[in-house]
Amino acid sequence: MSTKRDYYEVLGVDRNVDDNALKKAYRKLAMKYHPDRNPDNKEAEEKFKEVNEAYEVLSDAEKRRRYDQFGHDGVNGQFGGGSQGFGGGFGGFEDIFGDIFGDVFGGQRTRRRGPERGQDIKQRVTISFEDAAFGKKIEIKLNRTEECSECHGSGAKAGTGKKTCPTCNGTGEVRTVQRTPFGNIQSSRTCSTCNGEGKIIETPCPKCHGKGHTRKVKTIEVDIPAGIDDGQMIKLSGQGEIGKKGGPRGDLYIVVSIKEHPLFTRDGFDVYFEMPITFVQATLGDEIEVPTIDGKVKYTIPEGTQSGTTFRLRDKGIPRLRGNSRGDQYIKITVEIPKKLNEKQKDILREFAKECGEEVHEKKKSFGQKLENFFKKF
Ligand SMILES: [Zn+2]
Ligand SMILES: [Zn+2]
Repeated sequence: MSTKRDYYEVLGVDRNVDDNALKKAYRKLAMKYHPDRNPDNKEAEEKFKEVNEAYEVLSDAEKRRRYDQFGHDGVNGQFGGGSQGFGGGFGGFEDIFGDIFGDVFGGQRTRRRGPERGQDIKQRVTISFEDAAFGKKIEIKLNRTEECSECHGSGAKAGTGKKTCPTCNGTGEVRTVQRTPFGNIQSSRTCSTCNGEGKIIETPCPKCHGKGHTRKVKTIEVDIPAGIDDGQMIKLSGQGEIGKKGGPRGDLYIVVSIKEHPLFTRDGFDVYFEMPITFVQATLGDEIEVPTIDGKVKYTIPEGTQSGTTFRLRDKGIPRLRGNSRGDQYIKITVEIPKKLNEKQKDILREFAKECGEEVHEKKKSFGQKLENFFKKF
């Protein structure tokens, strides 16, 4: 006995309907009567169940054949068929709608996640001016994730395995319904209990608490290349955080800071240095010793060197990064005027001034003439 409506009638299709048309008709009705769109509507809920039940049978070739032959009895009870009703039908609904919503709303149809690359690490190191110039092998201490030595990354206690995740029942996904102006949108997200794996560890490893990795301080050797500049990075591939599920490690980026030097400053590959000399050295000229990053160098200052004059020492700068040449060193001269002279020293200078007149000071002389011409107007 059956008071059920004919399945073809429920879906509004004729008996020769093909799979595509059947699917289309079902989608339309299921959307219309979906409980999310008809909250607290008993009638819609009944229709929804009916539509699902009809589709469940007609979309299954074997059940449809039995239904065509025997009617509702053919797919109920004794034939081991389809009285799964609403509950069973719901899965079918989700599957068929997942792709619609995915297409229309860019919904997240997440798959189980495969191996994932580990995170990159950025670590700052401070090195000396000279080490930046000439390069050096240094060791740095890095706090990063290492495979757990107890469980070798599995996260499971020795001798135990994995079980089906109770949150997602092993599917790796959790479905959610979101209310939006377009109606309710179904979406699925990766299960956070098992991270999409569908399985969780039965008994966690006591050392890493099931994570499969622990944080450790690791010493890593870094080759600082000659010529590296402040703020530049050195990339060490595969030295970052450990990957997930067998994925590769991330990369390690070493960010270089260069300490200030008491004598030198740097601009690109050129070195700047300020050299104080006496006014006597400046006037008479002198051979001076100039520090460079290679050591002392002799340099002859010509007679009459003015304060602020810059001399260049070719190829005494920083080696070019991954190149053969070097920058230059610039020496900027500062002439120091003595502040505390005794009477004898002052007398000598006064004598010197008398001897000079204005003839030896060209700039001052021409300036004096300009000034005189200017005051003539008054
Ligand atoms: Zn472990
Ligand atoms: Zn799960």
